[in-house]
Amino acid sequence: MYGYAGRILRVNLTDGTTKLEPYDPEIARRFLGGRGFSAYILYTEVPQGVDPLGPDNKVVISTGPLSGTLVPGAGKTDITTKSPQTGGYASASVGGLICAELKYAGYDAIIFEGTSVHPVYLFVDDDKVELRAAADLWGKGSLTVEEELKKTLGEAFQIATIGPAGEKLVSYACITHDFGRQAGRGGVGTVLGAKKLKAIAVRGTKSIPIADVDAFRQQARTMYKACMESDALEVWQKYGTAGVTTWANEIGAFPTRNFQSGFFEQHESLSGEVMREAIVVTDKACFACPCPCGKYSHSQKHNVFVEGPEYETTALLGGNCALADIEDVAYANYLCDELGLDTISAGNCIAFAIECFERGIISSNDTGGLELSFGHSQAVFALIKKIAAREGIGDVLAHGVKHAAEVFGGDSADFAIQVKGMEMSGYESRNAPSMLLSYMTCDVGAHHNRSWSITYDIQVGRDGISADKAAKVIELQHIRPLFDCLGACRLQWVELNLNLDYYAQILQALTGEERSWDDLLKISERVWNLTRAYWAREVEDFGRAWDSPPPRTWKEKVTTGPTQGSSISWEDNQKLLDMYYEQRGWDKNGIPTQAKLTEMDLADIVTS
Ligand code: SF4
Repeated sequence: MYGYAGRILRVNLTDGTTKLEPYDPEIARRFLGGRGFSAYILYTEVPQGVDPLGPDNKVVISTGPLSGTLVPGAGKTDITTKSPQTGGYASASVGGLICAELKYAGYDAIIFEGTSVHPVYLFVDDDKVELRAAADLWGKGSLTVEEELKKTLGEAFQIATIGPAGEKLVSYACITHDFGRQAGRGGVGTVLGAKKLKAIAVRGTKSIPIADVDAFRQQARTMYKACMESDALEVWQKYGTAGVTTWANEIGAFPTRNFQSGFFEQHESLSGEVMREAIVVTDKACFACPCPCGKYSHSQKHNVFVEGPEYETTALLGGNCALADIEDVAYANYLCDELGLDTISAGNCIAFAIECFERGIISSNDTGGLELSFGHSQAVFALIKKIAAREGIGDVLAHGVKHAAEVFGGDSADFAIQVKGMEMSGYESRNAPSMLLSYMTCDVGAHHNRSWSITYDIQVGRDGISADKAAKVIELQHIRPLFDCLGACRLQWVELNLNLDYYAQILQALTGEERSWDDLLKISERVWNLTRAYWAREVEDFGRAWDSPPPRTWKEKVTTGPTQGSSISWEDNQKLLDMYYEQRGWDKNGIPTQAKLTEMDLADIVTS
């Protein structure tokens, strides 16, 4: 099979056995790889209704056909499981170098099943595969463990690990790789913690079969040249995603004080320019990436090194908690990375607790004596540690804002900023109806990366709803996740405007199969419908209520900044959702119809 290693590694953590299986070409045809392959495994192999933290849940770590090749940014790995945070589908993508190493070791994917009694890590050196004791690593931080394993095994091994938060089953624990890249969302690290799998270490020396080497090489050159000649390259390379901070404030989308506002009055101190000047040590790239957006930083104030803070972290741990010193944000970022917490959910949970405190819903009796207020960095650091240790109020916040609102009571559910139980990422959207729809309909919860349509709202006019806005969300929900099926980064397209047809052309040179970009988009749509069917299967009352926006977005207006006074009415929001369902071919409750499943070639898999 050109473009694929051709093998899957199945690891049973209960009995400690490992097994090799061939990669089914028919599955590759229908689901491509990466997130598509993982979604198929999740739907077909994980029984309905399993406990996400029980032995019957599985974790699929999957590369795509482009992974590990010379395609710019071909270093993305998908990690899929049943989410302990939402109870539905979880899929998180991580960059770095491990994806190439997995392919070179001869595996397109690893499927973890069962649960180990004792802590272990998976050692993979080409065909040598072992589960090794990890009792001495248990309890240690993600960055610390990565360093230790590299010292023990050698620099050539690529490591992914969980931190203490994953071990303690915090519901939004992440998996860390390459000293600061994360599979962040949905609690994928929590499931590894439940399985007592501390880390994965991989080294590979094999090659990837290519159908037409000359055409592939030529197309890769074309893609690199286009990246290097992009007008946007210089700024992107200099600031990475941190360059978004100033723009987000200018358009009133920067989450501030638990999404009360979209404008942080001290945002200039968090800008990409200030960050580069104050703390950035060097640029850092994933595998085969010509435009390194990673920034490796050093905080003198706190004496730590950290990758970042990238935009989402600055937004949620910076503006959303009203921290105005980039070094404090870098330290909060470091704590989350070392302890193994998703910075987006952690920032949301802390901001939520602060707002509850300021409104008198909770007091120092609930916080173990901590006085909470926006802008108080020491309180933020303390809460991060409490969450990771599940200590006191940290145990409540460890289950997310939806749960915390149930515990804290009052009207706190109105400002618990989440969809499907997942906290919202970094764009205040009360003046961006399509962006809010993107959050509502995202397949993992309130995450921006499936459809970052806020630029479309700005382009066509931010007020008002229209069928076009629903259509744009759908279009992006097929394009962007397609990169997670291919195993490549989407940012060369998003930021450098790389031609999408190039990806179809190079995939053809790689695999020998003739498929247009539109053919590939059909696969992405198939995966989207499969994951929606998964939600419907797993969550008893799943339907349009699960696509509801946070009440703050329709009950309260933005308090300050360029979008002050904005909100989206419930009626408008629901009309836009109707348009979305109709265009998707789903019923009024948001469930894919049988006709749609048949059209998507899913009728043999999704049987109701
Ligand atoms: Fe990694 Fe950034 Fe390059 Fe994408 S653009 S491959 S995230 S370094």
